[in-house]
Parts: sequence; structure tokens; C-alpha cells
Amino acid sequence: AKQKGVNQLVYFNTRMVDELRDRSMMLSELKDSLDHQNFTLMYQPQIDLNTLQIVGVEALCRWRNKRNEPISPEVFIPLAEQSGLILALGEWVLHKALEDLHRIRSIKPSVRMAVNVSTLQFNDPDFERVISNALALAGVSGNCLDIEITESVGVLGSVEVEEKLSRLKKLGVMISIDDFGTGFSSLSYLDKLSADQLKIDKSFVSCMNPSNTGSNIADMIVSLGRKFHLTVIAEGIETEAQLNALKAQGCHQGQGYWFSKPLTIDDLLTWLEKT
Ligand code: C2E
Ligand code: CA
Ligand code: CA
Ligand code: CA
Repeated sequence: AKQKGVNQLVYFNTRMVDELRDRSMMLSELKDSLDHQNFTLMYQPQIDLNTLQIVGVEALCRWRNKRNEPISPEVFIPLAEQSGLILALGEWVLHKALEDLHRIRSIKPSVRMAVNVSTLQFNDPDFERVISNALALAGVSGNCLDIEITESVGVLGSVEVEEKLSRLKKLGVMISIDDFGTGFSSLSYLDKLSADQLKIDKSFVSCMNPSNTGSNIADMIVSLGRKFHLTVIAEGIETEAQLNALKAQGCHQGQGYWFSKPLTIDDLLTWLEKT
């Protein structure tokens, strides 16, 4: 029994070493990719549920490693966060997305660009300057941009966070709370919150089916958002039943495979021409 324990320990250690090596290899490839701008952006339409018109697109980052394998953002974004690379990557995303917005707006002039902002970026003292620089460089006004942050940026409703949000809003930028309801914050901040939108996480949408409508978390978030005069947008809408249930509840906007998967800029432009 003792021998087995030792073997397990050895196995565990080599596995840890393997994982560390994989991680540092991925990290150096990630750094390399940043130098060579080897990232791409996909865009997913955001739809007004009443008019079924497109109101915005969300920029979603894509990356392939040296062997040309696609790595999920659920993997490389946390790695970029842990290593601080996210600051440069996040800035690249902003610049690229706002540059592409010109082409999008040449077809649908009112479309806004939603960009995911990591907590590390938001809390960077330079963040507001990064945003205003990106806007100036692209030559677009702040009200073209929607920043998606999560509850982990800090204590929402606290003076520090709200002051930062208000300063961003002075630039015209819209603020969305992403993955709303999946964090650990209380709801007491909602009446002080200087945000514009709540985003319902896809985990609350995927469990909606024709037999349990009316008593789920997505419905509760819609009511909550409406009470606090926030626009509510649901992500991960895959079925007509989910769409209809959300619409019946008064959810304002939605995105998901039902409308469109995330698209390359060229496919998005074609999609826009058709709709
Ligand atoms: P998120 O912001 O919550 O984005 C929603 C995710 O759901 C995206 O995954 C999107 O492709 C996926 N999705 C959209 N519609 C559907 C649907 O109908 N069904 C299902 N099952 N999934 C759907 P993706 O692109 O893999 O991104 C994962 C996460 O990575 C994002 O979650 C976001 O937190 C992060 N991320 C992506 N791009 C960036 C970025 O540029 N910066 C930062 N900081 N984070 C990013
Ligand atoms: Ca998002
Ligand atoms: Ca997320
Ligand atoms: Ca989500």
C-alpha cells in the first residue's frame, strides 16, 4: 500500500510538471502571437427581440496555436489574464473591432460594437485612456461602443467602481454586466449601478424549455432588469421556444445560434447585406 502511494505521488508530480510545461509553452506561443497579431475576431449579431433588427455585434477573440489548432478563449483568455498579456491583447481587440465597425456601419449605420473587457483591463489605471485612444484612433464616437464587464470588476455600486463607470459613460460608452447572476455579488448594488444593460448568461437560457417557462432564472433577471430600467439581453438563444419565452417575458435583446453563430467580418458583411 505504501509503494502504491509513492507511485501515485510520482505520477502526480510528473503530471504537474507536464501541465506546467504545457502552460508555459502555450504562454510563449501566446506572446509570439501578440507580436505577430495572430489573433482574429468573430462577430455575433445582437438582435432586438421586438423588431428582429440587428442592434449590435459582440466581438469574440479567436486564437490558433503553432500547430494551427484552435484554442478556446475559455483557455487562452485566463492564461492571458494570469500573465498580464490581456492588457495588450485587450487593446488589440478594441482597435481591431472599432476598425471593422466602419465596414459594418457602411451597411447598417446604427450597429454598435460590444467588446469583452477583462477585470484586469477595467482595473488598469490607464483603462479610460485606452478607451478614448481607441475611439479617437478609429474615429468613432463613444456611443458606438458597448463594454461588457463582469461582476468581478469589484464591488458594483461602490463609489470607486461607479465613479469609473460614470467617467466611461461621459465618453458615451455603454456598459453591460456580462454573465449576470453567475457571480457571487448581492443584488443591493442594482439601484446605484451606472450600467445600461444586463446580459443573461447562456447557462440560464439553455435550461429554458417549453415545459418550464415562467419559473426560471432567466425570467427573474428580465423582471429585475426591467424594474431597474436596464436593457436586458439574453445570450445563447438556440431555439425558437427560448426566443418566444424570453420575448413574452419582455427581454429586450438576444443573441445566439438561433439568429447566427459568431461570424468572420466577411461573413458578417454578407449576412448584413441579406437581412
Ligand atoms: P461570453 O462573453 O459569455 O460569450 C458568450 C459565449 O457563448 C461565446 O463563446 C459565444 O461564441 C458562445 N455562444 C454564442 N451563442 C451561443 C449559443 O447559441 N449557444 C452556445 N452554446 N454558445 C453560444 P466564446 O466565443 O468561446 O467565448 C468564451 C468566453 O471567452 C466569452 O464568454 C468571454 O468571457 C471570453 N472572451 C472571448 N473573447 C474575448 C475578448 O476579446 N476579451 C475578453 N476579455 N474575453 C473574451
Ligand atoms: Ca460577453
Ligand atoms: Ca464570460
Ligand atoms: Ca456568458
